[in-house]
Amino acid sequence: MKRYLVLSIAGLIGTLTLFGQKRNIPKAGCSTVLSEAMFAKKDTVKDRGVADNYHTWENGVTLRVKFMPGGGKMIREKVMQNAREWEMHGNVKLQFVPDNEPVTDIRIKLGQGLGHNSAVGTEAKFRSQNEQTMNFDTISFADFRHYLGKLQKKGNYGPYTTRDVEKEMQTDPDRWDLKELRRVVMHEFGHALGLLHEQSFPGAIKWNRSDSAYQYYLETQGWNRAKVDFNVFEVAEQFYTNGTAYDPKSIMHYSVEPWQTTDGFSLKDNYELSYGDKGLIAALYPKDRKESVNLVPKITISNFTKLTVTANTTRKGLVIQPSFDLKTNAKLGEVYFVARLFTTDDKYISTSGLFYNWAGSVGTYKKVNLLPNTKISYNKLKKNFELFLPFDYIPALNGEQVGVEFTVYLNDVANSQMNKLMYFSSSAPMSIPQR
Ligand SMILES: [Zn+2]
Repeated sequence: MKRYLVLSIAGLIGTLTLFGQKRNIPKAGCSTVLSEAMFAKKDTVKDRGVADNYHTWENGVTLRVKFMPGGGKMIREKVMQNAREWEMHGNVKLQFVPDNEPVTDIRIKLGQGLGHNSAVGTEAKFRSQNEQTMNFDTISFADFRHYLGKLQKKGNYGPYTTRDVEKEMQTDPDRWDLKELRRVVMHEFGHALGLLHEQSFPGAIKWNRSDSAYQYYLETQGWNRAKVDFNVFEVAEQFYTNGTAYDPKSIMHYSVEPWQTTDGFSLKDNYELSYGDKGLIAALYPKDRKESVNLVPKITISNFTKLTVTANTTRKGLVIQPSFDLKTNAKLGEVYFVARLFTTDDKYISTSGLFYNWAGSVGTYKKVNLLPNTKISYNKLKKNFELFLPFDYIPALNGEQVGVEFTVYLNDVANSQMNKLMYFSSSAPMSIPQR
């Protein structure tokens, strides 16, 4: 009987994998993208760096975490308990607050169909307060052994669908595969603290870049070729290793199948934080010193209250005034504040002009060298910052409305890491007076 059960479980997972092309795979992979901004609707700058050290939180930070509606008491407790594992090794605290808390740093959605993924570190700030920053696909946490046994007792010997398991879960909830849940929760919280996929380590894996490999990511993650290239194949030069060695035991490593590599290398899932994971989080968030030794220039943008765009007919141009607070860390930062126009179908407006041109599209910018450990408020108590775009430099729009996207980029000249996106926000489309 036992042997039957084991065989049937293997069958179940196989069947479900075939069924659940995209999302409902019992052992769902992590679909976190390395830099979500790169794939945000308009931002397509090729050299967008990975999140890494530029998007870690401040050392000693207490992150406010809440659950979005959904998920029972037991599964929430298991998520909290396993997430807290990181606190033991790094100088960072997770404060779980009630669901109705209006302002939080990390928001968890326990649900189905959204995969497992998380914003990387402070990229969570790019999302609005009513949107989650982390998803868990709870069907893949189900104790399949248990539910399958129940189905078989009822005379259902398969093939099974995820729907069969979901139905069993409704009358007999909270039978979780705690080992898998723990693995995935620690992995996603690793992202939330700024960690990236370990398989991205430069030169670590000899990836098979065949069409079938691209097809695999399209089916399992819904990623197009550009996204696969960025997230899997072309990460070496963007990866900030913090001086650590490649760690195949990392909780941040994907499992790797032999067909995915050209040399037959493969790796099973890791279920615990490795020695390297503990060391890396301690290096990024040290308990025994004020800042990480690997600290890079960083800016924190908070309290972004509005992006005011005015078509000023007297000055004959667009006046763009974002309101926000900015804080620098102990390193010097060279920062660009950029405003670009976009059309209602979410495209930048291209230009070949010498002026008011940002990377080939119509825009205006200011470069600022910020002092270390400084706090500045822009357009809060007084108007003290604007970007200006003359009407004359905007191509004929033929009455089409345009919006303004405001972005902040950091150049880390010393480390040759340029154009790190630190913030973006956009205005509602509007009409612009033209000649
Ligand atoms: Zn991941």
